[in-house]
Amino acid sequence: MFAKSVPQAAQSSIELPDALLALGDFAFIDVETTGTKPLTSRLTEVAVIRFSAGKAPVRWQTLLNPGTSIPSEIQVLTGITNDMVRDAPSFFEIRDQLRELLTDAFFVAHNARFDYGFIKNEFRRAGESFTSDALCTVRLSRALYPNADGHGLDAIIHRHRLSGFARHRAMGDTEATAAFVRYAAEDHGVETVFAAAKSLLKMPSLPAQLESNSIADIPDSPGVYLFYGINDLPIYIGKAKELRTRIRSHFSSDHMTPNDIRLSQELRRIEWRPTAGEFSALLLEAQLVKEKLPLHNIALRKRTKLGFLSLSVVDEATESTSAAPTWLAADEWISGDGDTSTRSVFGPFNDKATAKRWLATIAKDHQLCDHALGFSKPRTLNDPCFPRQLGRCFGVCVGAESIEAHQARVADAMASQRMPDWPFDGVATFEERDEVNDRVDLLRFDQWCAVAGGERLPFDADVFKLLRRMLAKHTAGFAGKRRISF
Ligand SMILES: [Zn+2]
Repeated sequence: MFAKSVPQAAQSSIELPDALLALGDFAFIDVETTGTKPLTSRLTEVAVIRFSAGKAPVRWQTLLNPGTSIPSEIQVLTGITNDMVRDAPSFFEIRDQLRELLTDAFFVAHNARFDYGFIKNEFRRAGESFTSDALCTVRLSRALYPNADGHGLDAIIHRHRLSGFARHRAMGDTEATAAFVRYAAEDHGVETVFAAAKSLLKMPSLPAQLESNSIADIPDSPGVYLFYGINDLPIYIGKAKELRTRIRSHFSSDHMTPNDIRLSQELRRIEWRPTAGEFSALLLEAQLVKEKLPLHNIALRKRTKLGFLSLSVVDEATESTSAAPTWLAADEWISGDGDTSTRSVFGPFNDKATAKRWLATIAKDHQLCDHALGFSKPRTLNDPCFPRQLGRCFGVCVGAESIEAHQARVADAMASQRMPDWPFDGVATFEERDEVNDRVDLLRFDQWCAVAGGERLPFDADVFKLLRRMLAKHTAGFAGKRRISF
């Protein structure tokens, strides 16, 4: 019923070899738009030809009412006028039909990022998410014809003497794109085109024991994923900004690490939990790892060596030379405990050795005393430290500088790494929102640590960094508030 104002393009029956379609279904697509920006411009026409092995191609096209006026120069370029789209359906009305055509197929387009961006955004406007594996025929052309001059559709049509398409209309361009792939398969052989497409699609080499459709449904939303071996405890837990992309990257031969290879040998089953955002994913990951202790979470386990340097404030009453910064393991650290007027905390550092190296560097830059920093011990009273002997210490070790003055310089030198004060009075609640998937996660924090089940989790450097970044972004909005949305 919505095709009432849709002119049919000339029928040219393009077939693709089944050997190529063994990779999967190919949905060739082209869109016409009111402009070039997926976020603000709208679709005026969409055409799809879907190829499946052993079946006749399915052709579908429609004009779309963009809900806005088409600029005159675009009307001239595409031949699609405001009059033509006035009675056409909106994207919302055709979205289910389009989704069916595009589901479980590769999204193939010339300059696929453009078409994919528009389709994704139209679905987003309709309150739905859309994800697909896009194959760009510009890239395919570049891969197969690296020495050719230009890979625009006009150049390709001209070079390979393809003809008979209504150019700059969606179906015409879709046909031309499919005709190019068919031509390339004849020219190079199906296997070469198959290999090039596979490489461009970054097709994951799934572990044999895993069903391929078990990753087909993974959404491209933020979240946490769990890999299981033969028993009920996960062997690996990871987080992702985009679940689908991240999980697949574990199995794409380009990026497989030795750990990925071991993982994929043991993997039997994948589970995932979408979250409202990156932040929620990070916290859920930390929580699940702590709960389930997966064997392969080596990277996360390393964080347990994390810690800080603690520096006492020296005044006349506590005058002593044992004011060197001391190591404070992250597990033992609870910010806000202890009086900040007597102690400052710096870091976080990955481990004690890293902290020590950093301290040595600033000691040198600021001509601090090796004895006072605890790098060496005085053998006698007024024993000059090694830097002092080289003229590189102001001389707190020999009484040439006061302990307070030296300590103040130490604090100055370390200032860039000082842990900021927790800007809230107790626990603060954050809302992370995902408008597209209509999801809100509530996150609670206290003293830069996540709070789960009423309990403060151990300090985590990633949580800290993310929190600080978020707060910096929302400076104006959060002052005094205990509940923040972002
Ligand atoms: Zn000294």
